[in-house]
Amino acid sequence: MNEMTAAVLKRNILIVDDEIINREILGNFLSENYLVTYADNGREALDILASSTRQYSLILLDLIMPGMSGFEFLEYRSRDSALKQTPVIVMTSEKGAEVKSIRMGAADFITKPFGMPEVILARCERIIELSEDKSIIRSIEKDAVTGLYTKEFFFEYVRQLMPRIEGETDAVVLNIDRFRLMNELFGRKEGNAILAKVAELIREVILTVKGIACRAEADTFMVFCAHQEGYPAMLARIQHELSKLTHTLRIRLRAGVCPNTDSSLMVETWFDRAKSACDRIRGDYIRQVELYSTGQHERAVFRERLISDIDKAIANRDIRVYYQPKYRIQGDQPRLSSAEALVRWIHPELGFISPGEFIPLFESNGLIQKLDNYVWREAARQVMQWKETYGVSVPVSVNVSRVDIYDPELEDKLARLLETFHLDPGELMLEITETAYADNADNLIEVVQKLRGRGFMIEMDDFGSGYSSLNMLTTIPIDVLKMDMKFIRNMLRDEKSLRLVELIVDIAQFLGVPVVAEGVEEEAQLRVLKEMGCACIQGYYFSKPVLPADFVPFIEAEQA
Ligand code: C2E
Ligand code: CA
Ligand code: CA
Repeated sequence: MNEMTAAVLKRNILIVDDEIINREILGNFLSENYLVTYADNGREALDILASSTRQYSLILLDLIMPGMSGFEFLEYRSRDSALKQTPVIVMTSEKGAEVKSIRMGAADFITKPFGMPEVILARCERIIELSEDKSIIRSIEKDAVTGLYTKEFFFEYVRQLMPRIEGETDAVVLNIDRFRLMNELFGRKEGNAILAKVAELIREVILTVKGIACRAEADTFMVFCAHQEGYPAMLARIQHELSKLTHTLRIRLRAGVCPNTDSSLMVETWFDRAKSACDRIRGDYIRQVELYSTGQHERAVFRERLISDIDKAIANRDIRVYYQPKYRIQGDQPRLSSAEALVRWIHPELGFISPGEFIPLFESNGLIQKLDNYVWREAARQVMQWKETYGVSVPVSVNVSRVDIYDPELEDKLARLLETFHLDPGELMLEITETAYADNADNLIEVVQKLRGRGFMIEMDDFGSGYSSLNMLTTIPIDVLKMDMKFIRNMLRDEKSLRLVELIVDIAQFLGVPVVAEGVEEEAQLRVLKEMGCACIQGYYFSKPVLPADFVPFIEAEQA
């Protein structure tokens, strides 16, 4: 901890002077309170400033130097907005040079030969203070409820402290469990009192580790301090104090911690990570402190990568559409009825990425629309091409994400595809997962009705996985029921799944729509499903999803 105290106080100063004796005298004055770096001339100073990960609080600049002089340095600095953030004190023996250097942006000057060390130190201190205040002053300093820093001020402060700290530091995000409930139970005034008390305790506890704290929002606090292991003990101490309050409800804090291992990280991102660690233990009554893990970090980086690569992947055809056949099974022989379009991403560096990985990600940020529009177009083109080449129609079902339902142009987009590729609406079927119906039944039903009005066939995907009540089913317009795979997987292993499969087939019969069973891998499953009256089957038993070229044999087999 003491290391941190010392480090916080030690800002970096760069002394630029070609004369060794000057450097030594000044260095002696300053190194007690500052970390001092030296440069021989302006050029070297620029190199140091550009390549160093440290943040310099002040530059002491000689004017006459070989290479790049002090004036040339000031001239260069005046055109560089980043360099201008660091104040410069000029060291000179000529009276006339002082005014000129102040005009060129220097903050102050020290005359040579150097006078009293105390005076020099005081000047350096004052200039640093002035320049730091300038950037901090913009944000309001304190939060009215708790007296802690506001988030804006806190971030600015952390940004300034960070480069000056040598050891490892932590971003900590603390949250009060069920705070909203307390607010509702005790009222807002009492809620604020709880916040103030928690803030006071946080401040007390972090005093020992020289940390700083803010209230970020509502019941979320942030702490910046030297790296610790002792968070559970700190929380316990706060907890203990809180238990002395008279409330019947137990106030419980949880904390997410992210140690800083990457100095280029933005402060906001760093604290976001601590927050995501904190969020992970929401509702967990055993763990109180969670560390942001490398696993979590790698996942975040991986997801960012997928988001930034999607356009390239579509353009380069790393993302491609595969087709899995569906067979009608009620006749003597299974007959090819249609196919499902399933997207595959084979990334040149990351390898095969499962749709289970990127579909939910793209659903969460809206990119799914872009992906689905691409898949639909590819599928429509494929149906046309098979029709042209083999003279048969193999309808293709495409997946329509719940997010696509909100696209006001959905209907028109799909209709345009039919036009472009000369298809009947029955040749491009739409699979919508059952849980989408539960999300927003009214809106979905309206959209589905419009689509059916245009002749599109709607398949309810993953039926049985969601929450649709039997009652709702009778009002939902659909054309096909696609049974959730998990029932098929277990139907020959446990009685309950088999009963459920039967039940679903019965429901479909009651609704007057055919059932598709997907995930069929074994002949035995097929036999039982056929007996029950299931219309269509999709699954590895016939084929995995394949590229169009590998789908051709299925079409040719029908024609033989
Ligand atoms: P889904 O629509 O329920 O698709 C069926 C999934 O089951 C596919 O996985 C398919 O490869 C797999 N499958 C088919 N037969 C068998 C089998 O016999 N055994 C086993 N174990 N699995 C089988 P996939 O391709 O990984 O897709 C996963 C999910 O990703 C899909 O579930 C669908 O919800 C979504 N998805 C895939 N492509 C798209 C797309 O283009 N757009 C949208 N919005 N979602 C898609
Ligand atoms: Ca599907
Ligand atoms: Ca499915």
